[in-house]
Amino acid sequence: MTQHPKTQTSQTSHTQNNATTPIRHVKVAIIGAGTAGHNAYRQVRKATDSVVIINEGIWSTTCTTIGCMPSKLLIAAGERAHHAKHSDDFGIEGAATINGKQVMARVRRERDHFASYPLKNAAEWGEEHKIYGRAVIVNHAETKSALIAAHTATGATQLIAAEHMIIATGSKPFVPDGWRDSLGDLLITSDTIFELPDLPKSLAVIGTGAIGLELAQAMSRLGVAVALFNRSDNVGGIKDDKVNAKAVACLSNELDLRLNTSITAVRRQQGDGDNRSQAVIDYTDLNDTNMDDTNINNTAQTWTGDLVLVATGRRNSIDKMGLEHLGIELDDNNRPKDMDKSNGKIKDKNVYIVGDANAYRPLLHETSNEGYLAGLSVALRLNRANVDNGANVDNVDNVDNSDNVDNVDNVDNSDNDPAINIRNAIASDADISAQSPILADITEHKAQAPATLMSVIFSEPQIMAVGHTLKSIEARGIPYVIGEVSFENQGRSRIMGVNCGLLRLYVCQKDIRARHIEADDGSQENPKTRGNLQQGQILGACMVGPAAEYIAHILATAITNNVTVAGLLDSPFYHPTILEGLRTALRDAKGQLTANAND
Ligand SMILES: Cc1cc2nc3c(=O)[nH]c(=O)nc-3n(C[C@H](O)[C@H](O)[C@H](O)COP(=O)(O)OP(=O)(O)OC[C@H]3O[C@@H](n4cnc5c(N)ncnc54)[C@H](O)[C@@H]3O)c2cc1C
Repeated sequence: MTQHPKTQTSQTSHTQNNATTPIRHVKVAIIGAGTAGHNAYRQVRKATDSVVIINEGIWSTTCTTIGCMPSKLLIAAGERAHHAKHSDDFGIEGAATINGKQVMARVRRERDHFASYPLKNAAEWGEEHKIYGRAVIVNHAETKSALIAAHTATGATQLIAAEHMIIATGSKPFVPDGWRDSLGDLLITSDTIFELPDLPKSLAVIGTGAIGLELAQAMSRLGVAVALFNRSDNVGGIKDDKVNAKAVACLSNELDLRLNTSITAVRRQQGDGDNRSQAVIDYTDLNDTNMDDTNINNTAQTWTGDLVLVATGRRNSIDKMGLEHLGIELDDNNRPKDMDKSNGKIKDKNVYIVGDANAYRPLLHETSNEGYLAGLSVALRLNRANVDNGANVDNVDNVDNSDNVDNVDNVDNSDNDPAINIRNAIASDADISAQSPILADITEHKAQAPATLMSVIFSEPQIMAVGHTLKSIEARGIPYVIGEVSFENQGRSRIMGVNCGLLRLYVCQKDIRARHIEADDGSQENPKTRGNLQQGQILGACMVGPAAEYIAHILATAITNNVTVAGLLDSPFYHPTILEGLRTALRDAKGQLTANAND
C-alpha cells in the first residue's frame, strides 16, 4: 500500500438514470466500507445473503489507513525523539539523530499491518456482495422510487433497490476554498501526510483541533520546524476555559503556537538557491487588536516554509448524496434530522446514517458502535419479518453477539471490546434467534451504545473530555461543584517530569430531577438515571495532563454506572501513581459537597 486510494475523489451527479438499466433488488444495501460499514455488514450478513456493500476506494478503514493508527505511530516516533533529546534534567544528555525516511517508513509499515486486517476481512466477503464504486441516491422516474446508483470504476452504473439502507460514507478533510489551487502539492492533509517519503524541514499546521495538534506536536518533536496556527485561542476543542488556558500554557513550552491569527492568503513562491517552491502564509495576529477591536495595530506577518498541513476540520458529504430523494432532511451542520443517535436510524424510514457520515460523534468507538448497532437493528428486523412471514429460518444463525464490535480496526481484541455494554444490554434476552419466542419483545432500542461521551487527544500532555460539558450541565439546570487538581505538584507526575496539567471534575451538588435537552455537544441522557441525579454523581470532566486517557476511562465508567464521588473514593488508589491526582480532585469535590451540606 503506497499511494493511498482513499485520497481519490470523484464527484458524481444525481443524473436521471437510463430507464433500460436493470434494477437489482436486495434486502440491505450498505454504502461505505469503513469501520461502520464493516461492522454493519458483519451483523447484517448473519441474517441475510441479500446484501450489497458499495465502496469507493480501498476496502480498509480510515482509522487504520489514514487516521487513528498512523497518527499514533507518528506520535510514538515523536515521543521517542523528544525523550532522547530532552532528558538533560534527569542527567541524561545526548542528541538524537532522526532519520526521517526511516520514521516515515515505519509509520507506513505498521500502518499497512493494521490496515491489512480489514482488507483481509473484506476479501473474504462474497464478490457478489461487493460493488466497487461511488453510490448516490437517485430518483428513478420509471418506478417512481428512490434507488441507489452505484457508479463503478469501469464507468458502468448499477441501480439497486434496497429494503434497508445503511449509509456509512465517513468524512474527508475540509480545505478552505482556493487553497489547493494556491498551494498545489505544497498543501497536505491527514489523507496524504503519512505518504511523505521524508520529514520536511518546516511545516505550517493550520488548525489546533485533535488532528492538527497531534500531528503538529509529533512533527515538531521529530525536528521539523512547526508553526501551529489557529484563528481562536482554543486548542483541542476544549470546552472548559480554565483547562484550555492550562493546555495552551503546557503546549507553549515546546510548540510554536500562533493562536488568534487570521490567515489572509496562502501562496507559493520560488525558493532561492535550490529552486524548490516554498509555501507562504500571510496572516495577521489578532492578539494585536486594539481594545476597541479596530484592528489597526494588527501587523501583517508572513510564514514561509516547506509544506502546509491543513487540519481545519473534517466534513461529511451526505449533502451531495441525493438524500432528499429519500425524504431525509439535514440541519445546518449537515447532520440528519430525526435520527436515533445510538444506531443512526432515521425516524419512520428504513435508512440508517452511521459513523462520521452523520457528523454527530466522529470518533472511532462511536462509529464502530453505530455501525454495529445499525447492522444489528436491520438483522433483528429481517428476522422478525422472517418469523412474521413464517419463513424457514432454521439455518439462520442470526445475530451473534459474541462478536467483537471493534475488531475491524484492531488485531488483538481480547481485551478491547467496547461492545460489552451493548452485549450486556441484550444479553439478558440471551436467545435472540429468529425462532425465539422472545423475539417479538426485542427491538433495536434494547441494544444501545454507552451514552457517555468520551474523547481523548494524544498530545503531550494529553487532553480529554468525558460526560457532559459545563455548558450542557448549566443548560440542564443542574447545580454543580467542580473538583480540581493541578498536576504541577502531583507526586508521580513530578517524578516522571510530566507535571503540567489540570483536571476539572463536574459533580452534581444535590439530588435533582434534571431537565432533558438536546445538547449541541451530542451528550445524551444516561439511560440508567433518566435524569434523576443524586448528590455526588459525576456529570463530566475535562482535563489536560498526564495519563488523561486512563483517567477518562475511569470517569466514563463511573458516569455510565452511576458511581458517585464517594463510591470512587471507596476504591483503592495505588501509590505513587498519576491516578492519585484523580483522587485529589474527587476529594476536592467531596469537600465542597460536605461544606454545602453544612450550609
Ligand atoms: C488523522 C486522524 C486521526 C484520528 N484519530 C482518532 C483517534 O485517535 N481516536 C478516535 O476515536 N478517532 C480518531 N479519528 C476518527 C476516526 O478515524 C473516524 O471517526 C472513523 O474512522 C470513521 O469511520 P467511518 O466508518 O465513519 O468512515 P470511514 O472509515 O472513512 O469509511 C467510509 C468509507 O465510505 C467510502 N465512501 C464515501 N462516500 C462514498 C460513496 N458515495 N459511495 C461509496 N463509498 C463511499 C469511503 O471511501 C470510505 O471507504 C481520527 C481520524 C483522523 C483522520
